[in-house]
Amino acid sequence: MQSVRAYIGIGSNLDDPMAQVQRALQALDDLPACTGVARSSLYRTAPVGGPPGQPDYINVVAALDTMLTPDELLNALQALETAQGRVRTVRWGARTLDLDVLLYGQMIRNDPWLTLPHPRLHQRTFVLYPLHDIDPLLSIPGQGTLAELLASCPFQAIVRLDQPLTFNL
Ligand code: AMP
Repeated sequence: MQSVRAYIGIGSNLDDPMAQVQRALQALDDLPACTGVARSSLYRTAPVGGPPGQPDYINVVAALDTMLTPDELLNALQALETAQGRVRTVRWGARTLDLDVLLYGQMIRNDPWLTLPHPRLHQRTFVLYPLHDIDPLLSIPGQGTLAELLASCPFQAIVRLDQPLTFNL
């Protein structure tokens, strides 16, 4: 089987979010059958949805080349969330770690357990800007180019904290 380029959205707003996302980036790179390719800049972003008064998030996107199937990848991400103390209580509530499969190659899949591309990708600047850092020419299957999606995405407060890193492109 050939490896597939997957993009993983990472977010945290609890218990030292910067340390949480750094740990998650390392854990993703250590996943079996996965090779870290690049990561976007780190961003500080205002919470979108969920209960009022949540702390800001730290967000980053990682690109991986993976031999895992999409279901195996999501299972692995959920195990990492649990390992980093994620507790599922309030929808869109504060969390130590949120990991989303944003894209799995060009796969389109309408399944509530794993929807691809991620169903809210096009509404979230904290995902679109990081994807743009890694591959500005990326096209999102069924939705258009990143440039088009960024132009139509509602404004959300987002601050870039550092520079993207490329490992294996
Ligand atoms: P969240 O609260 O964002 O962690 O939502 C996780 C839920 O969304 C899980 O029950 C997943 O099965 C489901 N889900 C559907 N599509 C995706 C996706 N592309 N990435 C991650 N979780 C997904």
